[in-house]
Amino acid sequence: MAKMRAMVLDKPGTPLVMREMAVPAPGEGEILVKVAACGVCRTDLHVVDGDLTEPKLPIIAGHEIVSRVAALGAGVSGFELGERVGVPWLGATCGVCLYCRSGRENLCDHPIFTGYTRDGGFATHTIADARYCFPLGEAGDDAEIAPWLCAGLIGWRSYRMTGDAETLGIYGFGAAAHILAQVASWQGRRIYAFTRKGDEAAQAFARSLGAVWAGGSDEAPPELLDAAIIFAPVGALVPAALKAVKKGGRVVCGGIHMSDIPSFPYSILWEERQVMSVANLTRADAHEFLEIAPKAGVHAEVTRYPLEQANEALSDLRDGRLQGAAVLIP
Ligand SMILES: [Zn+2]
Ligand SMILES: [Zn+2]
Repeated sequence: MAKMRAMVLDKPGTPLVMREMAVPAPGEGEILVKVAACGVCRTDLHVVDGDLTEPKLPIIAGHEIVSRVAALGAGVSGFELGERVGVPWLGATCGVCLYCRSGRENLCDHPIFTGYTRDGGFATHTIADARYCFPLGEAGDDAEIAPWLCAGLIGWRSYRMTGDAETLGIYGFGAAAHILAQVASWQGRRIYAFTRKGDEAAQAFARSLGAVWAGGSDEAPPELLDAAIIFAPVGALVPAALKAVKKGGRVVCGGIHMSDIPSFPYSILWEERQVMSVANLTRADAHEFLEIAPKAGVHAEVTRYPLEQANEALSDLRDGRLQGAAVLIP
């Protein structure tokens, strides 16, 4: 029987362990894919660290999967063996709940999430529901496209929520921000990048990707902003961002987990400022982003790690040692 390798999480708070196991066969509607590259997202860190409390265990994390179709389950059409496909965080939805029926499948009551409630891409192979996978074509490098599958898609959904903001603040300049900044500046928006205090390398990186200003998250931007997106998992940034936006401005929280938001005076929310969160993605978000990213010339800055070094990649992300995105290569 054919074997695969995977970095497995047995219990949150413990390191991933390399295991060998049988390659699974795809069920009805599923495809087996051979992983070419899998990005490491902050959400993976939240799964591994136990901030997200309902993983399937043991679990193979990873939901920014660039892969090749290796086998088709019964009833799958529209994909060919060897075709390059992307597998994102949204693994499947129920199709019948209130949210699925109203074009909001990102809020589905009974979703399946890749690398959280179903095994993901920190492996040589994985299984995916074909209806939630995307053809990726042949242009572009596997590793450089991997971060598009979550950092790009969630970043895009967050960005869409900021409407036609001309001045846009981005708090936390990691994988999602560095992709989004390229799209937004290509569309003529003025990007203000906020990083950890004193992180001059990240600020220079932001400027190199089109930010007109970069500074610490404790600083006020030189002009008030139309909107802001918070990617860093730091609740204290919510009042900071509210103070930085104009009347009627919107603050979008793009992460799945955030530390508690400290109390703040009503005056910084008043005048129709808004705070909202973005959860998951819809397939429509993915189709939009995958069309616009190549046009905008998005180039993801990646650091490659062999699959065996998944723990090192997670540590580097946790400790802020990465510029851009970490990608595992099996
Ligand atoms: Zn549903
Ligand atoms: Zn993610």
